[in-house]
Amino acid sequence: MRHFPIFLDLRGRRVVLAGGGDAALAKLRLILKSEARVTVFAADPAPEIADWAAEGKLRLVPRAFAPGDALCAALAYAASEDAQEDARVAALARADGALVNIVDNLEGSAFITPAIVDRDPVTIAIGTEGAAPVLARRIKADLEAALPSSLGLLARIGQGFRTAANALPMGRKRREFWADYYFNKGPEVLAKEGKTGAELALGDLLVSHLHSDMSPGRVDLVGAGPGDPDLLTLKARKLLDQADVVIYDRLVSAEILELARREATMVNVGKKGFGPSTRQEDIAAAMVEHAQRGAHVVRLKSGDPGVYGRLDEEIDALDAAGIDWAIVPGITAANAASAQIGQSLTKRGRNGAMRFLTGHDVKGFAEHDWRGLAKPGQVAAIYMGAAGARFLQGRLMMHGAAPDTPVTAVENASRTDSRVISSTLSRLPADLEAAAPDGPVILMLGLAPRAAVAQLPALQEEFA
Ligand code: SAH
Repeated sequence: MRHFPIFLDLRGRRVVLAGGGDAALAKLRLILKSEARVTVFAADPAPEIADWAAEGKLRLVPRAFAPGDALCAALAYAASEDAQEDARVAALARADGALVNIVDNLEGSAFITPAIVDRDPVTIAIGTEGAAPVLARRIKADLEAALPSSLGLLARIGQGFRTAANALPMGRKRREFWADYYFNKGPEVLAKEGKTGAELALGDLLVSHLHSDMSPGRVDLVGAGPGDPDLLTLKARKLLDQADVVIYDRLVSAEILELARREATMVNVGKKGFGPSTRQEDIAAAMVEHAQRGAHVVRLKSGDPGVYGRLDEEIDALDAAGIDWAIVPGITAANAASAQIGQSLTKRGRNGAMRFLTGHDVKGFAEHDWRGLAKPGQVAAIYMGAAGARFLQGRLMMHGAAPDTPVTAVENASRTDSRVISSTLSRLPADLEAAAPDGPVILMLGLAPRAAVAQLPALQEEFA
């Protein structure tokens, strides 16, 4: 992030702008939304600028920008649409100590003006570091459509009520009151009874929240999916939005953690290099402790929480402490991997059943029904299996599996840095060693990527 977004208090501050054409007009329309004291330097200003000056919205100086014109200015805009003139203005303004923006010149600017969605006092700034103005405009249009125009009014009414709302204890209880106002009661009353109705309703709402009991804490055991944030469930998104505490594993992707409520306490229980991971008892203790203090805890696990997630141990601990819990399923790695290689997990005539296996368990490499798995047409998703590839190969071949049985390893399934390693049972250990994956890997036994499958008949013809 080269440009750090901040909201600058321009009330009563001096802002200068050099230029009187279209670029100047576009910038002025934005700047005049603020409460800055704006001075425009233009020998030949557009009529609108002269009108704004006549209305007292800005001060117009009908000459070119000169040394000292930006003294005491917080911001200076060079908007003459003439590169040489803009460079001259920028140098003078910089010398006067102002932060300078040259319109349409990222490199020459100390700051850039974002696209703005204005629901004052709610303001959304969208920036793309100058990389994709089209994208910024599209996001702005989407937000304009999504945010009701009454949002600003609701927020302003709410703002006047902040001191009164301090009667509620800080934290969860106060947050619940505001959420109730902004998302339930506020819009409803505003639509029916207007501004005064909404102001009165706030008082009633406060009283009812003051008298309601603090809702008890709870834990949601939530699947984060394989890594792509678009593969989160809507329920997971909502819960992340409300969480007081998020307790997450190593495999949960950074993009997903970004979606958690900003004030949420983030607890990492899967640090690399912190031993293999935090001890299960300590995870359980952390969940129980936070929930007992009234927090809404999201226990975020990669994929589906019920697949190799030690879910039952955590539920037992919550039950023992009498804490409410619920499971929110997620997309498991096997789903993501099969989708990525264009294959279904079950297929009529090929495999009417499929298995989930683990490559190792608490005792080491895990034993399975090798005889059954070695039969033709078997499909299995093998979690945590990459390190035990040689063991797996040995066991399966010993029980008669064909050496050319397809095995596809998918690393970082669904993520942007994903890799597909298409292999066979006989080549698997060597292919994995050569690929040296460092992200999570799932092995899909009995499945080859669809593209490779499609190529097979052609190859056979070639060699026929
Ligand atoms: N609950 C998770 C599995 C946790 S066990 C789920 O449902 O997906 C951890 C193993 O899951 C890893 O060793 C790897 O085999 C697999 N895994 C998790 N995320 C993965 C991903 N994005 N790509 C490939 N394998 C993944």
